[in-house]
Formats: sequence, structure tokens, C-alpha cells
Amino acid sequence: MRASVRSVQLGRFFPRPFADEALFSVIQRVVLTHGGGKDKRIVSALFGSRSLQFCSQFPSVIPHLKGQSNIPCDSWITEHTVLPIYRPFTPQKRYESAVDALKVGKGNHVFKALGITASREKLTPEAKYCSQCAQDDEKSAGLAYWHVGHQLPGLTHCVFHNERLSVMCLSRKKFDVWPIVSDSKSIKAPEGSEAERHLSLLINESFILGKTVGLIPDLYERYFSRLIARGFTTSCGHLRLQQLRTEMSAFWQGLSYHPCFKDALSTQHSLPFPSNLFAYQDACHSPIKHLLLIGFLFGDIATLMSFTNTSERVKKCPPLTKVRKPEADIEATIVDALTSGLSLRKVSEKFRVSIGFVKKVAVIHKIELDLRPQKIFRPEQDEIIDKLALGYPTQDIAKQCHCSTGAIETILSQHPDIVELRADTRKLRKRERMRLSLLNTINELQCPRRNDIKLKNGTAYMWLYKHDKVWLYDHLPAQIPRCYRRSKT
Ligand SMILES: [Zn+2]
Repeated sequence: MRASVRSVQLGRFFPRPFADEALFSVIQRVVLTHGGGKDKRIVSALFGSRSLQFCSQFPSVIPHLKGQSNIPCDSWITEHTVLPIYRPFTPQKRYESAVDALKVGKGNHVFKALGITASREKLTPEAKYCSQCAQDDEKSAGLAYWHVGHQLPGLTHCVFHNERLSVMCLSRKKFDVWPIVSDSKSIKAPEGSEAERHLSLLINESFILGKTVGLIPDLYERYFSRLIARGFTTSCGHLRLQQLRTEMSAFWQGLSYHPCFKDALSTQHSLPFPSNLFAYQDACHSPIKHLLLIGFLFGDIATLMSFTNTSERVKKCPPLTKVRKPEADIEATIVDALTSGLSLRKVSEKFRVSIGFVKKVAVIHKIELDLRPQKIFRPEQDEIIDKLALGYPTQDIAKQCHCSTGAIETILSQHPDIVELRADTRKLRKRERMRLSLLNTINELQCPRRNDIKLKNGTAYMWLYKHDKVWLYDHLPAQIPRCYRRSKT
């Protein structure tokens, strides 16, 4: 039922959100400033109803907030809700429909769009905070507010202070619940396991990635390359899923009590994790599932993002666990692709089958193939080796020399030193690109602070942090000193 209260437009009197402030924290501040904290009438006057989802992780008040504050919906969603954590791992269309739902105040539709159950939402809403951040905020902002970065699902530790987050129950009716600021100077010993802190870091990194970059390109290609490199595939390309599950469980043992971990590893699913992750690659899986795999395989997001050792071996060992069309269907589509003029390699990549299989289909269906020579003579070989050493892509060399890419790769495989050299060259080029990109970001910002740089250009920041830390710290502005930094005594 709508309350018969005259609507109020705050406009420029709407409080500016703090950096990383959770949306319900902003709402609480509005009520605190304009309604004395207890006056429910202000809620009805501002949002047209007292019963909206104010403290849900996908709140239904965003259109009202936009109207009241003149801050666009996109900013509210990206900067003040946890939605961006889902972005790197959610098919683009599904993510966009989640954003659209939030923009029109249909918070409940977001659960559907992301394929997550809303059951937990029905319980008493909770919020997490870090007591060190609370002390800092009270000093700098005058109020210990709720950080959206602490509310990320699965996060147990503050990534800045390494401290375990405290949990408080929120109220759907009261609008004055805040983190507790203790004035005690006693500093607690770090709590929790290494695994919890590791997962918290990963969650934080992918949140930043979701806010800045978006979808991780070729995510599954990266997974497969690493799985092959780590020996999790058989000689015919099958994933050793049972072994992977066992080793991952051992790796994340410190998390075994954690509800997110239990959900992911549950044996209730028709296909257990991580098989389901690989079998349904186009589906929405919880970020935690991806992060458990990423943490185990790559350590952190930066390494995953910079992992370029994809394609070639992946193409040779296609992920056979992926749910495939029946063979007859595949054959028909391969015939279509071949007759339309696609090369053997392109067809093999497109349908994730071996080149040998495509050749067999071509022979059965009497399709003539324009095969390029596989043998290369000595003088040509020397020229190719020179080009490989200079870092030219194998496909470009194949085109120039009128031979197959496979032939070039065979030559390359005989020169492990050149393989290494090419990897180094790629890394150096990437380092130059990342350095330049970071410097550009610093120049673009009027008053560059470390956190702003990290938020604006997370990719370059994280890559340099991982691979070029000395240079990064030489070029970042000085850190803002923290008064409450933990002292080692
Ligand atoms: Zn903190």
C-alpha cells in the first residue's frame, strides 16, 4: 500500500555517496540527515514506499535514487552495489538484463538473470564491516559507513587491513544501523586461514575487474591451457576432473566450513563441481566457483589476465568434456563450413574438433581441399627461423611462405630457445603497453591517488603489481599514510 505522503525532491541536498559506500548506507544517511533517523515518513516521501528492498544486495530503489540525486543509475549500480563482481563471469546478455532489471527497480529479477537462488535473501539481512576501516572512516568522513567492497558474497577479510570482517544484522525497518567503532587501541592478532584471505583477495580483484574491464576474454581457453600445462588432461584431451576436484579441495581446505565453498563443492548437483563449470560454459556460474578454480590454477586474477599461453595446445587437445552436439550433426555442419570455403584449421577451431577429424569428414563427403605444402626446404627454413626469432605470429609467417601454420609450428617446436625468446618478447611488449597505459591513467587524473588509479585502470595496475612491482611503486604517487596501521610488536 502506498503511504499518502507528499513526495520530496532532495536534488542538491541529497548527500554525496562516499567512495565504495554501499547503497543501503547512503539510504541510511539520507534518512539520518533528513528524517532524524527514526522518521519513517521521510522514507515514504523519498521512495514512494516503506517496503522497498533497501538492504538487499540487489535493491529495488535505484530508479528512486536516480530521481532524488541526479546520479545516473549506472553509477549507482557500478559504484555502490555488488553486481560488478558477477560481470567477469556472466554472459554479457545475462549481465545486461540484470543491470536493466536494477534500473527499473526489479531487484528480484536480478537473481533470475544471474541464475542464483534468492533463498538467503529472505533471511535477516546482514552487513559486514572491518573495524580498522570503521576507525579510519570515522576520522576522515566523520562516520563509519558501510563499504560495498566488504559486502561482496564470500568475502571474509578486509583486503586493506587483512582483518576478519565483523557481521551485523541490519533491520528492514530501522535506518540507523552502523559499524561499531571501538576506541580500543589493542590490535587483534590476524584471524582466519590463509585460504580465507586468499579467496577474499580474489573476490576483491574480480570486483575491481568487473567495475573496470568487464568480461574476461577467452576465459575457458585460459583455463584449458593452464590445465594442460598442469597435467590435468589425458593424452586424448579429456580433463582429469576427479583429480582436479580432489586437489582443489585440498588446496582450499582452510575454507571447508565456508557456506560458499560448501555450495560449490556440494554433491547435490547432477554434475559435481568443477565438471559443471566445464560442461555448461555458456551458463551463469557463481563467481566463487570460478574463483576457486582461478586461485588454484593461477593464484590471482592478474596472472590469469596475463596468461597468454593459450590456443595452440588447446586446439590440439579440445575440451572433450564440453557438451557436444551428436556426431552426425557436427558432421553436417562441418561439411557446410568446408563447402563455404573455410580452411581445415578454421573449421577445426570453430567446432573444437581435431584437424584429422575434419580431413576425414572431407574425404567421406568428397570435398576437395586446398592443402598448402607441409614440407619446407632448408633456405626457407632459415628465413622462417629468423622471423620466428623476431616474434612474428606463426600465422603471418605461414601466409608469407605459402605453407600451413602447422608446418611453421613444427619448426618452432624444434627450437625451444626461440619459444622462450618469443615468450620474453611478448612479455616485454606487454610490459611496455601496461606501463604506458598506467602513465596515461595517472596523467588523466587531476589528483591521482593510488586507489583511484587502481579503480580506473585495474588491468594495468594488477599486471604491473604482479610483474613489474618496482617500476610500479616508483611511478605511483606517495601512499596516504594510515594512522591505524597495525604495528608489529
Ligand atoms: Zn579494513
